Amino acid sequence: MAWALLCAKGALPQARDWHVEALQPVRGTRDIYGEDQRRHAHVIATARDTASSYGFDEWITPIFEDTRVFARTLGDTSDVVTKEMYTFADRGGDSVTLRPENTAGICRALVSNGLTQSLPQKVFYAGPMFRYERPQKGRYRQFHQIGAELIGAAEPLADAEIIALGWDILTRLGLAGEVVLELNTLGDAASRAAYRAALVAYFTDNVANLSEESQERLAKNPLRILDSKDAGDRALVAAAPVIGPYLTADAEAFYDGVREALGRFGVPFVENPRIVRGLDYYSHTAFEFVTTRLGAQGTVMAGGRYDGLVAEMGGPPTPAVGWAAGIERLSMLLAEPPAAARPVAVVPLGGAAEAACVDVLQSLRRAGIRAEMAYRGNMKKRMERANRIGARAAVILGEDELARGVAAVKDLAAGTQTEIALADLARHLAA
Ligand code: ATP
Ligand code: MG
Repeated sequence: MAWALLCAKGALPQARDWHVEALQPVRGTRDIYGEDQRRHAHVIATARDTASSYGFDEWITPIFEDTRVFARTLGDTSDVVTKEMYTFADRGGDSVTLRPENTAGICRALVSNGLTQSLPQKVFYAGPMFRYERPQKGRYRQFHQIGAELIGAAEPLADAEIIALGWDILTRLGLAGEVVLELNTLGDAASRAAYRAALVAYFTDNVANLSEESQERLAKNPLRILDSKDAGDRALVAAAPVIGPYLTADAEAFYDGVREALGRFGVPFVENPRIVRGLDYYSHTAFEFVTTRLGAQGTVMAGGRYDGLVAEMGGPPTPAVGWAAGIERLSMLLAEPPAAARPVAVVPLGGAAEAACVDVLQSLRRAGIRAEMAYRGNMKKRMERANRIGARAAVILGEDELARGVAAVKDLAAGTQTEIALADLARHLAA
């Protein structure tokens, strides 16, 4: 209905009665700008570049999918599906879900685009994810992940390679000293069935001491109790059976292969038999890069092998391994925020010089130099502004300079001023 009509009917207040309330971002979401944005962009650029050197290509899939993409693949018992998904009916009545993670979407895309015929596929992605969680430091409702998936390779070398990619990204971010790689195996289906039985026996004996949530997990997916964040559960988990004795010979051999290959890639790790993934579709390798610096939000990068997922999407049985990392958590760990870009300020002296200055401004920009010119103000005001925006140099141009084809270039840190021929200006400022 037209706005005026709504107002006339009294459905909306008249403009003049309006108290305009400043709106806030939705709980658990945040605006990323300034230093935060520079950290965020640095994480993505570093990851993208490193992934490219490993032969990964970037895919951009939709941020919402048919709800079945997640309901099918994450399993009915994962926290993500049962409690955290943003699911709604769109205007056409279809159930859609804002992606809580991107592995399912990548596998859906692989199948939708017929790419199961051209394997392996090495996929990198970066983008927003959505989970309805209790917001706290390092935990948001819209957050961002980088991730890598290696689809179509069943060899332990693939697991080691994708972990090595993660390790190299963390190293290039300066975080090698901050994180520890914790490695585990979830074995194959037979190993997991035997292990599951042992866990059920153990937790059933101790059921009275389990949290209510884990009592539910005991019935549906006991392995997930190992991932519980409840303090009481964690005490029980510490004494729970580990998977080692239940591994089949095949699963044991696979795990040996991964550990050996990690050695070949030079990636240090510790083994932690408590590592399971929050999502249900993993087998064999499971790993996390963890830090002690972010409290309960200490997992910065997590992943594993998920050989069953592509088939769940309607594709042929296809082995795959991958990881995802939270950009916000990585950003918080960066020691130094990347420096803000420092422009060059073009400062015209007098109205007549201003028009000519636009040419100089544009020629600098086309030469790849970040250059700015204020929209108004005398020389003094413009110089003040140049300092305020952190300009590294001011290019000062009056009619006299223009007539002689030169500019006065003031180094704003050193305070020194030099005369430079306009023809040499871009080269001089780039140096
Ligand atoms: P957690 O145990 O912290 O809830 P998770 O097991 O749910 O993590 P994954 O699904 O494996 O996490 O996601 C991979 C990474 O994404 C995590 O290690 C973390 O860095 C990041 N991440 C997950 N959920 C959030 C969130 N709500 N806010 C910010 N980052 C998140
Ligand atoms: Mg979680």
